[in-house]
Amino acid sequence: MRRNFKIQATASAGLESLVARELRNLGYAESVKIDDRSRVFFEGEPADIAKANLWLRTADRVKIVVGEFTSKTFDELFNSVFNLDWPEFLPLGSSFPVAKAKSVKSQLHNEPTIQAITKKAIVKRLQQHYHRPESLPLMENGPEYSIEVLINKDEVTVLLDTTGESLFKRGYRTEHGGAPIKENLAAAIILLTTWPANPLRPFVDPTCGSGTFCIEAAMIAKNIAPGLNRTFSFEKWPWFMENANFEALKKEAKLNEKSDLKLDIQGYDIDGRMVEIARRNTVAAGLKNVIQYKQMRLQDFKSDLLDGVIISNPPYGERLGDEELVHKLYRDMGETFRPLDTWSKYIITADEAFETYFENRATKKRKLYNGALKSNVYQFFGKRLKK
Ligand code: SAH
Repeated sequence: MRRNFKIQATASAGLESLVARELRNLGYAESVKIDDRSRVFFEGEPADIAKANLWLRTADRVKIVVGEFTSKTFDELFNSVFNLDWPEFLPLGSSFPVAKAKSVKSQLHNEPTIQAITKKAIVKRLQQHYHRPESLPLMENGPEYSIEVLINKDEVTVLLDTTGESLFKRGYRTEHGGAPIKENLAAAIILLTTWPANPLRPFVDPTCGSGTFCIEAAMIAKNIAPGLNRTFSFEKWPWFMENANFEALKKEAKLNEKSDLKLDIQGYDIDGRMVEIARRNTVAAGLKNVIQYKQMRLQDFKSDLLDGVIISNPPYGERLGDEELVHKLYRDMGETFRPLDTWSKYIITADEAFETYFENRATKKRKLYNGALKSNVYQFFGKRLKK
C-alpha cells in the first residue's frame, strides 16, 4: 500500500484557517496548505487520517485525494478516472457510490453524467484488476467507500470520504430543541476566543439552548477528542484499519484527557425545556457536574468575577414580527453586559445591525456561515487586568 496520501480536510466557508491551525497543532505543520480556493490539504498515512478524524473540532470531513487531473471531455474523464489507483482502495466486493459530483465553470457540467462516467470507469478498472467479466455487474455488498468528483475550471479532483457522517456530529447531542449551532462551528468560535489559552476563567453562555457552546468549551479545556463517541467510515476498511492504529490512538486520547481540571462553565436559558435538553446532552458527553445550567433570563445575569468570557448565539428574529423583540433583547444584552468590563464577549448573529442595538462597537468582527445564514461573530474584548 502506498504510504503517504494527499488529504483534504473540508470545512464550512470561513473556518478553513482554523482547520489549518488545528492540523498544525496536531503535528502536520510541514504539509498543511490552504490553496487559492481555500481548500485545506495535508499529507499522511492511514494513522494520520484516523487522528485527524478523531481530533479535528472545526472541520466537516477528512477525504483522501485519489487523483487530480484536467478533463474537458467525457472520454478524458473516463480515462483519467480509470487510470487512478482504485485497486489500492477498493477491495473486491466494496460498495463504492459516486455520491457526489459538482462542477463549476467547466466544460463538463452535467453532474449526473459526471457521476455515471466516473462510476463506469471505476467499475471497468476493478473488473480488469480482479479478472471479472465485463458482462456481469460487480458485486457491491461489502464496506462502503464513498467517492466524490469535483470539477473546477476543468480541473478534476476525485476524493474518497473517510469520515461518513459529518464531523460536527460528535454523538452527544441526542436532542436539540430549537435552533442549535453546529458543534464544529461552536468549537470554531470558542477557538477564536482567548478562553482556551486560560480555561480557568469563567465561561458563560447566557442563551445556551441545547448546551453546544458549554459542552464544546469543556471538551476543548479538558482535551477530550471530539470523535471518541462516534464511528467513522474508515473503520469498516480492512486495509486502512490494519495501518491506522486506531485503538491505540483512542487509548492515547483517553490517557491525555485532563479529567481533574476544575472549570467554571455556566449555561443559562430562559426556556426550562432547553435547560433540560442541555443537561441531558452534557451527560451524554460525559461531562456531568462539569457544567452548571440554570433556567434564567440573560437580563438577570450578574457576576463579581473578573476576566470571564461570554459566548452567545441569541435568537436572530428571521421570522416576521420577531424583529422588534429581538432588538429589544440585543439592547438588554448591551445593558446587562456593560458592567462586566473585564469580560470578553463574543456574540454570533445574522443581524447586521446588532451593534446599533447592543450600543457598543465590536473590537473585531468575523464573518462566518451559520448553516446557510451569513453571520458575524461580534467580538468585544474585556479591559486588561492590571497584574
Ligand atoms: N447555541 C444554542 C442555540 C441558541 S438559540 C444551541 O446550540 O443549542 C437561542 C436561545 O436563546 C434559545 O434557546 C432561547 O430560549 C434563548 N433565549 C431567548 N431569549 C432569552 C433571554 N431573554 N434570556 C435567556 N435566553 C433566551
